[in-house]
Amino acid sequence: MKEAPEIGFRVQVAVQTPAHSGIAEPLTYLAAAALPAGTLVRVPLGQREVLGVVWGEAAPEAAGVEGPVLRPVAAVLEGLPPLSEGWRDLVDFAARYYQRAVGEVALAGLPPQLRELGADQLARRLARKPRAAADAGPAGDTPRTPTPEQAAVLAELRAGGAGAFLLHGSTGSGKTEVYLQAVAERLAADPEAQALVMVPEINLTPQLEARFVARFGPLYGAGAVVAMHSGMTNPQRLGSWLAAHLGRARIVLGTRMAVFASLPKLALIVVDEEHDPSYKQQEGARYSARDLAVWRGRREGAQVLLGSATPSLESWWGSRPPADGDPGGRYRRLAMPSRVGAGDLPAVRLVDMNLQPPRTRLSAGLVDAIAQRVARGEQSMLLLNRRGYAPVLACGDCGWKSECPHCSAYRVFHKIDRSLRCHHCGFAERVPRACPACGNLDIAPVGRGTERLEEELAELLAGVQRPEADGGGPVRIARIDADSTRHEGELARQLAQVHEGAVDVLVGTQMIAKGHDFRRITLVAAVNPDGALFSSDFRAPERLFSLLMQSGGRAGRDSAWLAAQGSRAEMWIQTFHPQHPLFGALRRHDYPAFAAQQLEERRAASLPPFSFQALLRADARTQEAAQGFLTAASADVEDLPEAAAVQRYPAVPLTIQRVANVERAQMLVESESRVALQRLLAQWHPRLHALRRGPEGQGIIRWLVDVDPQLI
Ligand code: ADP
Ligand code: ZN
Ligand code: ZN
Repeated sequence: MKEAPEIGFRVQVAVQTPAHSGIAEPLTYLAAAALPAGTLVRVPLGQREVLGVVWGEAAPEAAGVEGPVLRPVAAVLEGLPPLSEGWRDLVDFAARYYQRAVGEVALAGLPPQLRELGADQLARRLARKPRAAADAGPAGDTPRTPTPEQAAVLAELRAGGAGAFLLHGSTGSGKTEVYLQAVAERLAADPEAQALVMVPEINLTPQLEARFVARFGPLYGAGAVVAMHSGMTNPQRLGSWLAAHLGRARIVLGTRMAVFASLPKLALIVVDEEHDPSYKQQEGARYSARDLAVWRGRREGAQVLLGSATPSLESWWGSRPPADGDPGGRYRRLAMPSRVGAGDLPAVRLVDMNLQPPRTRLSAGLVDAIAQRVARGEQSMLLLNRRGYAPVLACGDCGWKSECPHCSAYRVFHKIDRSLRCHHCGFAERVPRACPACGNLDIAPVGRGTERLEEELAELLAGVQRPEADGGGPVRIARIDADSTRHEGELARQLAQVHEGAVDVLVGTQMIAKGHDFRRITLVAAVNPDGALFSSDFRAPERLFSLLMQSGGRAGRDSAWLAAQGSRAEMWIQTFHPQHPLFGALRRHDYPAFAAQQLEERRAASLPPFSFQALLRADARTQEAAQGFLTAASADVEDLPEAAAVQRYPAVPLTIQRVANVERAQMLVESESRVALQRLLAQWHPRLHALRRGPEGQGIIRWLVDVDPQLI
């Protein structure tokens, strides 16, 4: 360790400080040279030495100045160009907007392994040769001739320059081909240009990565396409990050974390399935990668392409065309209503469950339709949004229910290993032999999850035979949900089985609805979607509509095969509310009508996108303490000029109020002015830290702010 230089430079360094420390700004260190902003350094922090990023301009340090003794920068990570100003601006903005420390956001945006590497190790890593261009992987993905709709969209993107576009394209309209060709055009136009392509799910990246490598590997080498998601090992993530940062990678494909990739020549950002809730980070800095992508695109002069069959209502509203007196939204809207090579969108059949015999779970019509498809060698897919066997185990005698001792929730009965498992805290026990309260031996499952659905279906379809041409035999049912895919690689294996045709009926949670291009599915059914119609979360209908449209889009993707089969794709929905306007719009595959109706309701209720929200949440040992803290916090900002423009609702318990013995409460904060809301939050932050240290903070385990929350 060097002695502190007598004369040198003061540099600000963004480091990861503990969240409770309340330090939001970079820390000051001494350096022998005027390190440029963005330089990666190692600095002492307490007893440790940590990775940091130089923030802002270095200032000369005059000798003999009074004040606290500054510690020197320990090492500079040579060989790495500084992080760009655009990247630092993105981090600054995200930290400010989502109310987090700059250092936290900056460090979270860097690959974890960079923290551990010493300067020498990094130098060795950098000396490693990038993959040769000859290693181009499986070639053979040639661009397809665009359909007229694709051609029109590509022409608009070509002429459109920077700015954000919303591509509203039906499932199967060929959005992926548009992404591929838009990326190809950008990369061809500038030999250094880079593109960022984001998808919502890790599971969707391998499929897409293969497409991109096949298309661009032959042009730029296999190393030109890199992935970035949390399923990768730390060395893999470091490799991808370095390739992007050094400009060797032309395309970064990843999940929400990729929005922070260092891309010095970023020219295009694609956000596929832009409506997907998983773009919102649910811990730490609760950022929306979609919203940050739009911000980043504007900052860097890059084009941003948001794509979806069912855009978020925020983006839909944000892309409305100009009308009298209304200048319209900031995004330009592009449309691809037709499907390519696929048949029509599936016919939607609503089963009125009021007309079924009492306690019907699967209507006879639906079972019959599935049986017919099995007999013809086609596949069906059943969606149920609850895993496990039954949501509750109950005693008919004394009323005992399988509550979790640590949470205000029931433990779910999993028959497969005869366990009662809490889906909130993970607490699991073997199913008791008899009722723990009264000793009754007859305790029974109530309600139904995917496991039970699978079992019932097997009974109902027991007599059905597969076609002789396919080898005959009984129906093959598979289940895909968080339980069946707990082990690494299990999901990929199960999906492959569906693709190979080794499964006739697939039962699962919404996990199976996303993106997968199953060719032989001709029937999709939503078994019990009604919960979302009356949820207290105003976004529940939006999510349901999107889920149903998306899963419907899984059916009948191969029109030639469908015609040869003499079959027709169908989507079945079992509901007690067949008159609900959501289903009406779904029947007509009319997203714009659904969106118009929802936006009208949102406008009337002053909900987003017509207002802006944040949640202030507190966790404590008791519900009183949690709510008390929030109430005091609300009173604490009464004096601010913005307080009048920002409504603070009363503190309430969360829907699942207790998890793992922690009581949780939240307060909704809302304003028609985003600026007012942001100003209030910024001033609230230090006051909340102070409040936490005072008497109102007694018993508070943690508090957090969620800006633009997706789950209310
Ligand atoms: P989306 O992402 O909009 O749901 P995809 O990109 O998966 O749609 O495209 C649906 C199918 O159409 C895919 O099998 C794709 O290969 C095919 N496809 C897309 N564009 C074309 C085209 N221009 N010509 C022929 N086939 C196409
Ligand atoms: Zn009992
Ligand atoms: Zn629990």
